[in-house]
Amino acid sequence: MTTRNHCLERDAQDLLAPLRDQFDLPAGVIYLDGNSLGARPKASLTRAQQVIAQEWGHDLIRSWNAAGWFELPKRLGNLLAPLIGAADGEVVVTDTTSVNLFKALAAALHIQATDAAHSRRRVIVTERSNFPTDIYMAEGLTRWLDRGYTLRLIDSPDELPAAIGDDAALVMLTHVNYRTGYQYDMQATSALAHAHGALIIWDLAHSAGAVPVDLQAGGADLAVGCTYKYLNGGPGAPAFIWVRQKHQQAFQQPLSGWWGHAAPFAMAPAFQPADGIARALCGTQPIVSLALVECGLNVHHQTSMDAIRAKSLALTDLFIELVESRCAAHPLGLVTPRDHAHRGSHVSFTHPHGYAVMAALIQRGVIGDYREPAIMRFGFTPLYTSYADVWDAVEILRDILDRQDYNVDAKRDAVT
Ligand SMILES: *Cc1c(COP(=O)(O)O)cnc(C)c1O
Repeated sequence: MTTRNHCLERDAQDLLAPLRDQFDLPAGVIYLDGNSLGARPKASLTRAQQVIAQEWGHDLIRSWNAAGWFELPKRLGNLLAPLIGAADGEVVVTDTTSVNLFKALAAALHIQATDAAHSRRRVIVTERSNFPTDIYMAEGLTRWLDRGYTLRLIDSPDELPAAIGDDAALVMLTHVNYRTGYQYDMQATSALAHAHGALIIWDLAHSAGAVPVDLQAGGADLAVGCTYKYLNGGPGAPAFIWVRQKHQQAFQQPLSGWWGHAAPFAMAPAFQPADGIARALCGTQPIVSLALVECGLNVHHQTSMDAIRAKSLALTDLFIELVESRCAAHPLGLVTPRDHAHRGSHVSFTHPHGYAVMAALIQRGVIGDYREPAIMRFGFTPLYTSYADVWDAVEILRDILDRQDYNVDAKRDAVT
């Protein structure tokens, strides 16, 4: 039987444990929501002060050149690249995940439409349980295009082989499901799409910085993802878009703003896309927010995705074991796969009063979140989550459940 002392021993041997000190976490909080908003790297406060006081305040407009503001989307993209198996010059940090998905979808449909062998394909395959914005963006784009594109929504990953027919233009999937924590086999799934002549777009919102990703070897065509979740970039920090080198020449996206122009300061009246990944950019970036992304990436560069993955699996295994043994009397249902290969870095349990129980946990300093229907989500971030945190969180959960210390009539907040 695992005890709290065992957890403390594991923390003492954990090579990642010292990294926790690089984050500013409030006392008395066990933060299990890094899958939704990563914790703040201490360095981001100093960086924000530098950007605001020195680069903006003192150096003013000179900072576009002198402080490298103009190059930031590409420089941060190159810093992020090794974490997702991308090469230099394949990724930019910019805009939001939703907006980047719009660009990726539009560009991928265009690549298919201009390929004589695939130009009649009108189906985009995705999952009904995908994060809603992914489905909404695809719906919005296809409605706007008005060329007969339809979405084919699968209800489980097992349905994928049958759903990707020779009418499929694209497959758009989220690598780690935001609700269940299910992780796709990127390589096998990309190969399946390609075998049917479809392109594949991966959303890495719950993967980047959380699980090892190899976009190159995984056969992905395009990818997008968040920096404010496991990459600890800050609330609403700009997202990223990756385009495989071989598609970059054909990559044409409709948000053809001046930052994607071959010579933005030529001020030419006609759009001419930049070479390479810069053509994925649109307009002027939120520099203060963008600059902070570097602080989160810098913490990641002090370890490896393999070390992060090993600890993530150990933390999620421990959490599942402790919840199932110590809260066995309560109606909790594990939603996340037990199989390591199909697990991301968060664990979800259902409870008939999931919202109320999560509200009680948050009240007691254990911060996870709630997703419909009846799902309590607990995110594990190996950079700052300890084994003792897992123990303590489960003990507080057990106490709340044993004493039924939650209010089923609690009014819901706008953000759950
Ligand atoms: C978090 C998340 C998003 C968020 O998109 P925004 O444009 O940043 O609001 C999109 N897709 C998935 C799969 C997510 O998990």
